[in-house]
This record gives sequence, structure tokens and C-alpha cells, in this order.
Amino acid sequence: MRVLPKGGITYAITHASAALAFKKKYPRVGLWPLLIAVQFVELLWIVFSYLGIEHVRVTGDKVHLDFLPYSHSVFTGGFLAALAWGFGRSVRRIYVGAAIALAILSHIVLDIIHHEPNITLLPMAWGPRLGLNLQGYPLLDFIVELIFCVACWKFFGGSKGLLVGIVIFNLLNIPLMFPRPGTGAMLTQHPAILPTIILIQVVSSWLLIWFLARRTLLHEEPRTPIAA
Ligand SMILES: [Zn+2]
Repeated sequence: MRVLPKGGITYAITHASAALAFKKKYPRVGLWPLLIAVQFVELLWIVFSYLGIEHVRVTGDKVHLDFLPYSHSVFTGGFLAALAWGFGRSVRRIYVGAAIALAILSHIVLDIIHHEPNITLLPMAWGPRLGLNLQGYPLLDFIVELIFCVACWKFFGGSKGLLVGIVIFNLLNIPLMFPRPGTGAMLTQHPAILPTIILIQVVSSWLLIWFLARRTLLHEEPRTPIAA
């Protein structure tokens, strides 16, 4: 399949780029824990979608993230962040717990900017739905996400290779912004396709960032050991 649906799912490279900023701010936390934390609620969504607990709604060739309150509510993000912070505190790693908590929260914040209004306050269908609908304006969406990713790269102090990789992954998102005829029908018939596509995007953006950032990190380490 060459062209994917516009779904309202914030592009994986944007979340992965946020992990770079957290890595710079919290250098004593590993890059992989941060990469996983920024996408943690997306991983929940993928699992819940496979299980049929959360689902999308297809109208024509548009995919709406109609029901994702368990993985993506404001409460879920806050609760998971509190768990990470509390766990870090209990094992005398407040620094690590705080970094992971903020990384988890960043996913909900970025998704509220990007999604059409579909993010509930509580993990239930009831209540107001947040979403600034940046995904509804593909050109603006592309520019804003590219600027955000490049800003994270700059803050991180990454290599030229990392910048090229990030720009290429942003360019690869362009066809996703314009669904092809028939996409909607296909997704209705095969509901496992979308979470699989997202899973592939999440993992490939992780590998890209890790692979192209590791040189920079090698030069900076070893740092002072983790403090409590
Ligand atoms: Zn998400």
C-alpha cells in the first residue's frame, strides 16, 4: 500500500523528536526509555485497537479516531505520568521519574494540538472533547510539525545526518495527509491495518532517531552517574 489515510494520529516522527528534547533536558535518562515514554499512549492505542476496545470511524475516505478515551484521555496521560513519577520517587530516582512523566504527558499535549476534537478528559465517552484539529489543514500541519521536529533537533544539538533523517520522515508524511479513493473501504474491511501501519511508523521513527542520535550521545557520555 502506497498511500495511507489521514487519521488525526500525530506523526510518529514528531513524538520521537520530542524525545530528543527531553534527552537534552534530562541527559542522565536513557534515550530509549524516553522514546518509549513519548509514544506510550500510542502503544496502548495500538493494543486496544487490535483488541477492538478502541476503534476508528470511517466516513468516505476520512478516518476519524472516534473512540480512544482509554489510551488518550487527559486523565490517562496524567495518571500514567503520576505513576512514572511516583515509581521514580519510590526507588529514589525522582530525576528519571520526572523526565518519563513529562515525556508521557507530551504525547497528549501534541495530540491535542494535532487531532480533531476527540481527546476526552476522562477515560470514557462522556464529556467535552479536546483537539485543535491541526490535521485538518495539511499544509499548515506539515509546516508546523517540521518546524517542531527541527527545533527539537536543534535543541538536542544533533548531527546533520539526524536532521536529514528527520526531514525525510516528515516528507514521507505528505502522502498520508491526502487519502486515496478506496482507502476508507479498505480500512473498514480490515481494521487491523491502521494500528499495524501506526506500529510500523512508531518503531521506524524510534530506530531512525536512535541510530542517528547515538553518535552525538557517544561523544557526550560518559556523564556523571544518575543521582537520586
Ligand atoms: Zn496519539
